[in-house]
Formats: sequence, structure tokens, C-alpha cells
Amino acid sequence: MADVSCDGCGEEVADTLSRTVSLSVDGSGVDSQTLCPGCFADWIDRYEREMRPEPAPTVEGIDFVE
Ligand SMILES: [Zn+2]
Repeated sequence: MADVSCDGCGEEVADTLSRTVSLSVDGSGVDSQTLCPGCFADWIDRYEREMRPEPAPTVEGIDFVE
């Protein structure tokens, strides 16, 4: 197996440490990246922020009775 380069930082990463990320981009495509653990964590963090620019919707007008 050839060495795998991280798409995030360009560093070569061992196969066992590589991560392949597949996701829908704007619902029209799939983006695949091979990331080292560090970049993978950064990517997830950024992804969650971008996909959730607004706080979770609040529930109004509904009374929950315990
Ligand atoms: Zn990296």
C-alpha cells in the first residue's frame, strides 16, 4: 500500500490512522477526504459549526407535563 497523504495538512499518515470522510455537500455531491486524526477532529468541529450556524430551535407554545 502506498503512503496516504492527509488532505488537511498534507502529512503522510499511516493507513491505520487515515480517515475517509464522505459527506453530502449542499445535497448535491459527495466529498471524500483522507485525514489524519488531528485534522479529522478539526474537520468535524468545523463541519458541525458550518452545518449548525444557528442555535438549536427552541420549543415554544408547548407545555410539557411531567
Ligand atoms: Zn492532517
